[in-house]
Amino acid sequence: MTGISAQGPHGPSGPYSPSSPSSASSPSSASVADGGSNSDRAGGRAGAPESAPGARPGSAAGRGVRPRAVVAEPAAGASVTVRVPAKVNVQLAVGGLRPDGFHDLANVFLAVGLHDEITAAPADAPAITVTGPDAGQVPLDRTNLAARAAELLAAHHGIEPRVRLHIAKDIPVAGGMAGGSADAAGALLACDALWGTRASREELLDICAELGSDVPFSLVGGAALGRGRGELLTPLGVGGAFHWVFAVADGGLSTPAVYRECDRLREVSGTGASVTDVPDPEPSRPLLDALAAGDAAALADALMAGGTSNDLQAAALSLRPSLADTLAAGARAGALAGIVSGSGPTTAFLAGSAGEAEALAAALRDSGTCRTARVAASPAAGATLLTPAPASGAAPTPAAPGTAAVPPAV
Ligand code: ATP
Repeated sequence: MTGISAQGPHGPSGPYSPSSPSSASSPSSASVADGGSNSDRAGGRAGAPESAPGARPGSAAGRGVRPRAVVAEPAAGASVTVRVPAKVNVQLAVGGLRPDGFHDLANVFLAVGLHDEITAAPADAPAITVTGPDAGQVPLDRTNLAARAAELLAAHHGIEPRVRLHIAKDIPVAGGMAGGSADAAGALLACDALWGTRASREELLDICAELGSDVPFSLVGGAALGRGRGELLTPLGVGGAFHWVFAVADGGLSTPAVYRECDRLREVSGTGASVTDVPDPEPSRPLLDALAAGDAAALADALMAGGTSNDLQAAALSLRPSLADTLAAGARAGALAGIVSGSGPTTAFLAGSAGEAEALAAALRDSGTCRTARVAASPAAGATLLTPAPASGAAPTPAAPGTAAVPPAV
């Protein structure tokens, strides 16, 4: 689990056979457009039939979000790097199972300062490489969400997806922090800049929604309320920085499996799991107010109201009982609040300050209840174009303020 994977720029790359530009309507690419279930992504990952209809092209994904114009002016032939944030769901209210296999959500996303970087470079044939502690768990074929994003953008514009994608991965894989979704959003923005396709904001958001429920938020960042399967975004104000510790578990949890377990637990509890049994999910007013005020103590209260703000927490704990030990260790170490992040198994702890977060992370590492603990602040900007790498190959530097593709909704 630990250690840098051999995969990387100098290791084996993952050549994949992309569809032709016209193949967006082919059976394999149709699974991209069909999305999957809520919290699902291309290929039908979550607890839903793979044929279940997801967001369609032209969906309302991200309507109401007003990103700035994308700055996409790389020198001809230059590579382009985009930085993308992880997210924590400060509230995840899950409605009942719909007949189409989805669940309606009230999903309060907050982008946090753990990032992947996606570099797109010209290539004769598509290829993908990944580096980072979890690189070995990331597919190197066209099932990689970043590759799917490149293919989909190319198909929209009738061009071949000739690109070498490199993912410098720092977001835990299968950790409930939307790392794959982040990579998809990053690849989309990077390829748009590399190819000069100049996709509009609406087109980018619609392609994101085709790729998966969490992808539109990865593009916009900041904080947002996601309705529907989570892809119908309304930006939220955030009045100040929040400081988090993320306890990273060994191994991942399958998001579809966690949704199925949520449904199963509702059935066995006697309340029922269907959309007629479960109240419509609603955002918590105190939680939104706490975010808007930048009030960590109030946010902590809202995170812990009713035990947790995450309706998937019981299911994640059922599948991974050891997470209860991690939550207890965080509470003992003075966290203001602790919840499972999304579908887990990462757990998220709110701290009162940056210093308290560092101390909390050290205590969690010492507790032996997690693989590691990472400190991050929020809100973070969405997918952000970094300046193209200079010819010397030196590391790209962040673009000047105002060049973020989509600013945080602060
Ligand atoms: P979410 O919070 O959106 O439910 P997650 O954070 O729990 O997702 P991810 O890290 O996004 O989980 O990835 C889950 C699985 O998706 C991985 O095990 C891997 O098989 C697949 N996957 C496809 N593309 C990627 C990618 N670029 N990065 C990571 N995983 C990917």
